[in-house]
Amino acid sequence: MPLFIKVLFASLFLFSCGEATDEAKTRAKIFLNGTIYTGDDANPVVEAVVVEGNRIVFVGAEQEALKTAPDGAVVDLGGAYMYPGFTDAHTHLRAVGNREQTLNLEGTSSLAELVEKIKTRIESASPGEVITGRGWIETHWPEGRFPTAADLDAISPANPVILIRADGHAAVVNTSMMNAAGLTATTEVPFGGDVVLDEAGNPNGILIDAAMSLVAEIAFSDPSQQEIINMYQVGGAVYNAYGWTGVHSMSVPLADVQLIEGLARDGHLTLRVYNSLNGGNPEVLGFFSNRIQTPQNGLITTRAIKLYIDGSLGSRGAILLEPYSDDETTGLQQMKKELVMPILIEALKAGIQINTHAIGDGGNRLLLDWYEEAFAAVPADQRAIAEPRWRDEHAQILNLADIPRFAELGVIPSMQPSHAIGDLHFAPERLGLERLSGAYAWRLLIDAGAIIAGGTDAPVERGDPRVEFYAAVARKDLSGFSGQGWHPELAVSREEALKMFTIWPAYAAFMEDDLGTIEAGKLADFTVFSGDIMTIPEAEILEVEVVMTVVDGKIIYRRD
Ligand SMILES: [Zn+2]
Repeated sequence: MPLFIKVLFASLFLFSCGEATDEAKTRAKIFLNGTIYTGDDANPVVEAVVVEGNRIVFVGAEQEALKTAPDGAVVDLGGAYMYPGFTDAHTHLRAVGNREQTLNLEGTSSLAELVEKIKTRIESASPGEVITGRGWIETHWPEGRFPTAADLDAISPANPVILIRADGHAAVVNTSMMNAAGLTATTEVPFGGDVVLDEAGNPNGILIDAAMSLVAEIAFSDPSQQEIINMYQVGGAVYNAYGWTGVHSMSVPLADVQLIEGLARDGHLTLRVYNSLNGGNPEVLGFFSNRIQTPQNGLITTRAIKLYIDGSLGSRGAILLEPYSDDETTGLQQMKKELVMPILIEALKAGIQINTHAIGDGGNRLLLDWYEEAFAAVPADQRAIAEPRWRDEHAQILNLADIPRFAELGVIPSMQPSHAIGDLHFAPERLGLERLSGAYAWRLLIDAGAIIAGGTDAPVERGDPRVEFYAAVARKDLSGFSGQGWHPELAVSREEALKMFTIWPAYAAFMEDDLGTIEAGKLADFTVFSGDIMTIPEAEILEVEVVMTVVDGKIIYRRD
């Protein structure tokens, strides 16, 4: 919006609202004394922003802002840098909270250290207590292999242990856990899973994808409602402190929606949450038949379903068109087409957004094929929304021939830059150099006309916007390393990275009219960093601090 229209808009507020306006003025906030990046190409950097209630009413020069709201409260940015509110377009908010409450194995640097951590934890455990940990990843370890039951049995003969890999697609359990769950060499392995066997033909403790369900009853006791509420509250607080103003929360259990809405209503969840419901629950479609017309409830919107087409690259569950370079497998399909198609058709008719997890080039091709088939089966005039904005969650490894199909079909790749800088240590082994040309291919997708909704996939990754922004523009790991064939040219510009975490997630949630840029009329969600991530040297992006987080016009986090 051009500046003069913004001023006009603000003036209308000033002169046309009478007494009510005077009251509103006392509540107005004037953000100034910083550098404000609006994300609006017509007006990219401004001096001041005025907020009334939860909306932006003015964007422009400081002098004008002070005139617009003469009684407004000045929020001094202290020379800091303000951006449109950062939104994590793919996270698991409940699991982020849960990670804070269970044994967090993130950052474990060797198998020996992992064993040591579990040993310490066992010392304070009660007899028979189940030990749950999450976040290990073996790709950096000197031992260079997955942990097995044998590693855990010596230190935990009596307490069942389950340790989930950082990506959530594999776990290691000890013999105590296998015994408690009745898992043996003859147990039938569920579709989409794998029970890894030792040389003698017995389960060695490694469970891949759907096979984790074999120990679920013992390993994952259902948390109480209060425990679930605590997870969301803790997850929300962690996220606010990272500077996030919004999240797209993936694989949300249907029953959680009410809990999240209650938390937000009571002011205990100060994050804009876009829920994507766990599509494994057959009641999910029924939920939407009552709700799709009025999805908005304060900060919480629920209008998407999350499905899974394959597993992860790390645990070789991602579906590849050709076998893995370091194994004979081509991955594990998680859903059967005959079960998925009716959901897709129904979703198009009802206006439900579909978010499907796809990692391998084969998984991504299947996704595009199935979406294309559904779009053809339900033409635009038979849909609740002509432009369904369906998403490909991860879109990680793509065959080059499939890249133009995203823009052609209107499918949004939802990608997590940190995966690229974590995976660069093992993806070349799994894929070979040739397939890397379509891996984490942000640059090619944008050039082919797609937008990218940027996310973190926390707790698979840390869930830190600075890490994601850095990864997107640097395409190097946190120490500045990038291996052979890692295609530095597939990085994005700072402007594109900003879009990946602001306006593009807004679009991917049908909220671009209200969110994603700092423009008069939009909702007041801002992220304020101590440094200028648009210009500082790459490595320094990781060091900026979160100065302030503003959601819905309220300052909900402020650095001391
Ligand atoms: Zn995920």
